[in-house]
Amino acid sequence: MVDFAGQVAVVTGAGRGLGRLYALSLAQLGASVVVNDMGGAMNGDGADRGLADAVVREVEDAGGVAVASYDSVADPAGAQQIVRTAVERLGRLDAVISNAGIFTSVPFEDLTPVEWERMRSVHLDGGFYLAQAAYRVMKGQGYGRLVFASSSGGMFGQPLEAHYAAAKAGLVGLSNVIAIEGAAHGIRSNTVLPFGFSRMVTETVGDPEALENLGFLQVIRPELVVPLVVFLAARECELTHHNYSACAGRYARVFVGLGQGWLAPTDSDPTAADIAEHLPEISAAEPFTIPGSIFEEVLAVCERLGVRAM
Ligand code: NAD
Repeated sequence: MVDFAGQVAVVTGAGRGLGRLYALSLAQLGASVVVNDMGGAMNGDGADRGLADAVVREVEDAGGVAVASYDSVADPAGAQQIVRTAVERLGRLDAVISNAGIFTSVPFEDLTPVEWERMRSVHLDGGFYLAQAAYRVMKGQGYGRLVFASSSGGMFGQPLEAHYAAAKAGLVGLSNVIAIEGAAHGIRSNTVLPFGFSRMVTETVGDPEALENLGFLQVIRPELVVPLVVFLAARECELTHHNYSACAGRYARVFVGLGQGWLAPTDSDPTAADIAEHLPEISAAEPFTIPGSIFEEVLAVCERLGVRAM
């Protein structure tokens, strides 16, 4: 049973696409929702308050409670205002879905510092500004759920998306640390790597025939991402420090594993030739562990070496 009665959630980028569906679902399950969206073009240009307003109306028409917010997550004051909107107008803040995003495609060699910075500022800086403001509220109440929209493009790579991929992968690092620091305060933090048919897909694919006929595009219904995100935002979810991919109804954990590797003989001075010789062991993906922090990696190495870590 997943229930949001009495809870307040913030969803950024909730005026359309995946964010709109997260907001509608959370409201249907009883949450009061801050529907944030500045309403820009896919590359971030422009603004339109009508998007957030329309989703608030949809929630209200269905009998739910929502308030609109038009602030940009890329502005530190804007992100703080989003959190303030939740606390001042809806009374508290239980869950944040950091989903707002922009998208452009540029070959790596042509990427300009301005394009790099713009992508980073919405996805990674925006995630940080929003999460920090929310974290302070959540720490005070001893409870909170954070869900960041990352991307398989970031975790696995995607051509023409160096700026987008770097920002999305950065959110995994951000979420990992929030999960560790927030654990003692009842705060859980995870990321989702969604696939959903939205304007991000239609405007990127462009070709009407492909949009109409590609089987993959038919099966990545955005509604299929919603249950995973809603679960990660719920009180019932005790998972933290995890990443999950939601692709066409296939839900799967995405993790960074650490191979067992090759341990050079104690007191030896390994050479590049030794590395080449032991490359199969060094590069082997199995067996592996999934360290919960840098300390778990260090402890495991110290154990093998028979030395104290601290
Ligand atoms: P979308 O373009 O349909 O919606 C994104 C929304 O974010 C827009 O309404 C936009 O106005 C809003 N937004 C942009 N910048 C903002 C800002 N600074 N402040 C507030 N709002 C802002 O995109 P979508 O496909 O629904 O994607 C949602 C999230 O999921 C994004 O972070 C995206 O990168 C990520 N994602 C999507 C896919 C996919 O297949 N659709 C895949 C991987 C990751």
